[in-house]
Amino acid sequence: MGGTIAGLAADPEGNPNKYKAGQVGIDSLLAHIASALPQNIAVISEQLANMNSRNLSESLLTDLGNRIQECLNDLLVKGIVITHGTDTMEETGLFLQATCGHRAQILGKRIVITGAMLPANAPAADGPRNLVDAISWASMPLENCPNGVYAVMSGKVCLAMDLAKRHGSALNAPLRDSPTSPVNLINPSWLSCVKAVQAAWGEDLPIPKAEEWPWVEILTSHAGARARTIKHWLTSEVLGLVLAGTGAGGFHDDWSEPLDEAIDRGIALVRTSRTGSGATYPHIPEKDAHGCMASGTLSAPRARIALQLALNAAETLKISGKALTWQDFFARIANLPEFR
Ligand code: ASP
Repeated sequence: MGGTIAGLAADPEGNPNKYKAGQVGIDSLLAHIASALPQNIAVISEQLANMNSRNLSESLLTDLGNRIQECLNDLLVKGIVITHGTDTMEETGLFLQATCGHRAQILGKRIVITGAMLPANAPAADGPRNLVDAISWASMPLENCPNGVYAVMSGKVCLAMDLAKRHGSALNAPLRDSPTSPVNLINPSWLSCVKAVQAAWGEDLPIPKAEEWPWVEILTSHAGARARTIKHWLTSEVLGLVLAGTGAGGFHDDWSEPLDEAIDRGIALVRTSRTGSGATYPHIPEKDAHGCMASGTLSAPRARIALQLALNAAETLKISGKALTWQDFFARIANLPEFR
């Protein structure tokens, strides 16, 4: 998919932050690490995109999800590694868990997402090691680790849905607050948490068609928040709002009235926290209106993807006669066992 792992700095010895993401092809990245790869596997590569992930689009997520599902169904494929920019790995990780996680588990395969914080030509580039680790993790024998959707960065592994970039430049930025285990040394308590999450994930949600992702925006509550920020959206075609609230997911009192109006107009609301960690629970700090869900431990970017998938699932599956609401689907993702 590209990202900094495939990036090039104009002056590799100079400032490593001055570079262009998505410049080197996946074949070259693999050729560079060929001698360090496990010997018992054949690595086949495919360039779906080569971009800066800050420009990730919903239609590209659709292409990625569909391609991953095809690869999972291929009997010759043992595991799948995705190189990706770290900026939006958080979104892609949650998306892949929610749409491909169950299928990966029942087919006995691992999907592993990785990236880098330094461009490919930086003297201390972290990408080569991350890619070797990701391929090793994807091909590690089953008895050592369960299947599913993971992220590998800076020598550690976590569930892809737990990965979050929490620093602008640190090499371990994407794993900072995520519960992790060292790639080759699985920590037993981590493993039991992974298994609990996976046991609770019983059914994948449908992948939205490229042009049919429900329109959902993230709004942040802050000092001086205005009612008209919410009113602005009431006449739009937005289908959902994720409220990145203060503290445990509260929002400014001036938002209360226009948010009630949003619910009356059928706009789905999700409350989350702008703090960057911790959880948002139902009816805390105030009672939730019907039509407003708490996000659990989902951050705002993850809650947004979860809400889009939930709205899409409610709409798509309605046609096939399953009368579940977006809240039912959203709860499946937000209520996964807490992994802290
Ligand atoms: N802006 C880059 C990207 O997300 C950052 C990175 O890959 O680390 O593509």
